[in-house]
Amino acid sequence: MKVLKFGGTSVGSSKNINSVIQILDNYSKNGAVIVVVSAVGGITDKLLQAGNQAKNKDSGFINTFGNIKDIHFEIINELNPDNNHSILTAVESRLNELKSLLDGIYLINELSPKTSDKLVGFGEALSSFIIAETMKNRGLSAERKNSKDLIITNSNFTKAEVNFGITNKNIKDYFKSASQQITVLPGFVAQSTLGEQTTLGRGGSDYTAAIVAAALKVEQLEIWTDVSGMFTSNPKLVKQAYPIEKISYQEAMELSHFGAKVLYPPTVQPVLDLNIPIHIKNTLKPEAAGTVISNDESHAALPVKGISNISNIALLTLQGSGMIGIPGFSKRLFETLAQEKINIVLITQASSEHSICLGLDENDSEAAKTAIDLVFENEIALHKIDPIIVETGLSIIALVGDNMKNHQGISGKMFSTLGKNNINIRAIAQGASEKNISAVIDKKDVKKALNTLHEQFFETQTKQLNVFITGVGNVGERLVEQIKQQKKYLKENLKINLRIIGLSNSRTMIFDEDGIDLKNWKALLTTGEKATLEGFFENTKALNLRNSIFVDVTANKNVANLYAKYLRESIGVVACNKIACSSDYENYRLLKRLSLKYNAPYLFETNVGAGLPIIDTLNNLIASGDKITSIQAVLSGSLNFVLNNFNDNTKFHDVVKQAQAEGYTEPDPRIDLSGVDVARKILILARESGVEMNLEDIENTPFLSESGLKSVTVDDFYQTLIDDEAHYQNLYASAKANQCQLKYVAQFNNGKASVGLQEIPEGHPFYNLEGSDNIVMFYTQRYPEQPMIIKGAGAGADVTASGIFSDIIRIGNN
Ligand code: ADP
Ligand code: ASP
Ligand code: MG
Repeated sequence: MKVLKFGGTSVGSSKNINSVIQILDNYSKNGAVIVVVSAVGGITDKLLQAGNQAKNKDSGFINTFGNIKDIHFEIINELNPDNNHSILTAVESRLNELKSLLDGIYLINELSPKTSDKLVGFGEALSSFIIAETMKNRGLSAERKNSKDLIITNSNFTKAEVNFGITNKNIKDYFKSASQQITVLPGFVAQSTLGEQTTLGRGGSDYTAAIVAAALKVEQLEIWTDVSGMFTSNPKLVKQAYPIEKISYQEAMELSHFGAKVLYPPTVQPVLDLNIPIHIKNTLKPEAAGTVISNDESHAALPVKGISNISNIALLTLQGSGMIGIPGFSKRLFETLAQEKINIVLITQASSEHSICLGLDENDSEAAKTAIDLVFENEIALHKIDPIIVETGLSIIALVGDNMKNHQGISGKMFSTLGKNNINIRAIAQGASEKNISAVIDKKDVKKALNTLHEQFFETQTKQLNVFITGVGNVGERLVEQIKQQKKYLKENLKINLRIIGLSNSRTMIFDEDGIDLKNWKALLTTGEKATLEGFFENTKALNLRNSIFVDVTANKNVANLYAKYLRESIGVVACNKIACSSDYENYRLLKRLSLKYNAPYLFETNVGAGLPIIDTLNNLIASGDKITSIQAVLSGSLNFVLNNFNDNTKFHDVVKQAQAEGYTEPDPRIDLSGVDVARKILILARESGVEMNLEDIENTPFLSESGLKSVTVDDFYQTLIDDEAHYQNLYASAKANQCQLKYVAQFNNGKASVGLQEIPEGHPFYNLEGSDNIVMFYTQRYPEQPMIIKGAGAGADVTASGIFSDIIRIGNN
């Protein structure tokens, strides 16, 4: 004999019920089966909703009732299109009883736990009747038996406790003489010894099935639901979660106790001692293997079996210097909660006995506080104990595994993983048996915590990076395209799952928690909401994804001003915008400090030399103990382009215009030509070398004509280039006469930096610098004579995008 239980979704539509009947038909060919069914999915909630509406004198209960009726009628009609009269009549009469009960509740304005049980019992009564009658209609040997007649409980309404002596006897007696192949039992409902209807607690149909399976000592209990087994974590919150093939009773119990709703926690108890395996199967996918819960040890290798979570937790903290001396303190505390029927989910106690912290359902917290404050009234008045502190809005996450005790460092890994993602832990509990390590965290962090822990313990190889890009102009667009092209490579070769979650230009912004479809990003972006910098930040923060990285591909000061906010949320920052790094030294330091404090990388390789690995090399030199003595560099792709193309056959104005047209200069070319841009770059290198310096400290000898320096608008400036052509030709002529090339050079020596135009003689490494190339020479303690030289294209959208991309990958590899 087998016992099968089908949950709410499994019996939630005629289509699913047909699948259920198909499964039962197959099973019954090999022997008798008992099937326990839940109410049609969502009906229990609707019944409670109607009850509460009626209690609150809200006549909306009539609509809710109508909705319940429609749902059942539709299922009956679809299941039995030709032969539904007797079923409809019988169901109608049940529904009339339900309506009378609701009218009664409306009239007396009261919904007691006892009435509530009577009310919700209609859900399972209806579903079991409809399913049994449909099977009979189709010629199957089926009978419905009311579980109320079999399962006897105390009168603890809404979560009654079973009297196993009477119950087991009832079940055995009934099935001894039952002759039908398929017996349909409503789950969840029972009856007190006084004959009142009770229920076994929300989700209790699983328990009904286990009680029956144990009473009859069947060979297997099957729980059929809407997922393919017990997953490594709640599949609704963790996309990467997967079904666990085999799991022990203890592990299943812990996971369900800590929120894995797929199994109602008490379900394991009755079958555990009898060693009856529980097989969790998917009604919607019967071919899937599912999960077997048993005592089979062979699959106990993985230390962590699953991660579960409970929401709506409150923490109650009781503390006070006088607590140590109060005899029977804990006893009184726990007795008080037991009397109030308040379930404690988690306990932690400081070893000094100075404070004790309890995790319980948020809905119970007020009642708990009132009761405890009352019991310890005297001690509180004498200031031996402080009034109880209640914190709400919390959740528990728990790592579960029989084998955790045999592995070192699991809890360390758990807490450091959470810490790295800026998830604050409010309390910790670890059972002495080490089957479970649980932590109380803020509710808003649950999804992030589960996903990070899941990645840590179940997908060790892949790391997910969640990128938010602002500024998809020339460079940003290339970056998105490069990411699109390399996604597969990164996953396969570097085990990095790189996803763009947010994108913004100056007009619109879009977000997709599952990763923006990059095949289609441009069209999607035009459909986005209006972009604002604050809005982009708020959305990024609210998504609260692990390994989030904000990428600034603008040259906008207001964007740079937001880095600190991002870092404080543990969101990494990758910037090609150099405003922040070259801003006030205090701000630069602050960002570096925040990056360390919140464990959020702040990388800006492209601030100097576009895609060339200049800052990374400098950081590596310093990290390995080297000291920078001098830096000589040509750092302006734009100036290089201009100076390389300017000669006695060209006009300075035309060359600058051309540089502008080809995208080598900033929109305002004076930023490049005045040397400000180069000064910012050498400033950043000096700072990264460990020197405290500001832009004003850099000696800048301008080469622009006086009127060029004084020009107010960009147009004025261009005019001065025409007017002062002779000035620029003189510079060229002098260099030519000295057999030199003009280069704009940045230097850093002995803590001092300067920028300016220089005549570079033949043979010097700068002499042959072509196009928009950059070059940096690092003289260090280890490279005193022959510098370390980095040279290559120092401007252009593609190389800049690839430099930003490298920063992102650098974060992924860390
Ligand atoms: P039923 O109505 O069949 O009893 P439930 O809704 O009670 O189904 O339980 C199944 C649901 O449990 C799944 O749809 C899933 O959302 C949730 N769930 C939470 N944690 C887990 C987990 N670790 N494994 C599988 N399902 C889980
Ligand atoms: N129908 C009940 C509930 O929704 C029992 C169950 O489905 O297990 O809680
Ligand atoms: Mg359930």
